[in-house]
Amino acid sequence: MNTSNEGGCLCGAIRYQVSGEPALVQACHCKFCQKRTGSAFATMAAFKEEQVVISGPPLCEYKHQSDESQRWVCCHFCGNCGTTVLITLERNPSVRVVPGGTLDNPGHFRITRHIWTRSAHDWIVFPPDSQVREKA
Ligand SMILES: [Zn+2]
Ligand SMILES: [Zn+2]
Repeated sequence: MNTSNEGGCLCGAIRYQVSGEPALVQACHCKFCQKRTGSAFATMAAFKEEQVVISGPPLCEYKHQSDESQRWVCCHFCGNCGTTVLITLERNPSVRVVPGGTLDNPGHFRITRHIWTRSAHDWIVFPPDSQVREKA
């Protein structure tokens, strides 16, 4: 089994490698993820700090305070093309969240859990075998 996966930003300046299995793989339907991706929902894989190695120029940061929890979520993105390649959370600073679409093989980690579905678009149909949560 392949225990190492690579990914990066759109322009190729930022590359990363993740090793081992993620602690959590999910799709998030919250308003923040809809805005930041410009899409209906975001897919993401959560790793421990030591499982993720990033190379390239320093990442830019945008910290967004949650209306719900008042804690920040930080998007780390490429200063050239704007792709968010990493997300960190005030709530759990050692976690490294990788946006699913930035993996070279985005389908590698199967999404089995959907969160913040109370703000999901009404055309979304959840697979019957997935965990569906109104909130996180
Ligand atoms: Zn880039
Ligand atoms: Zn979200």
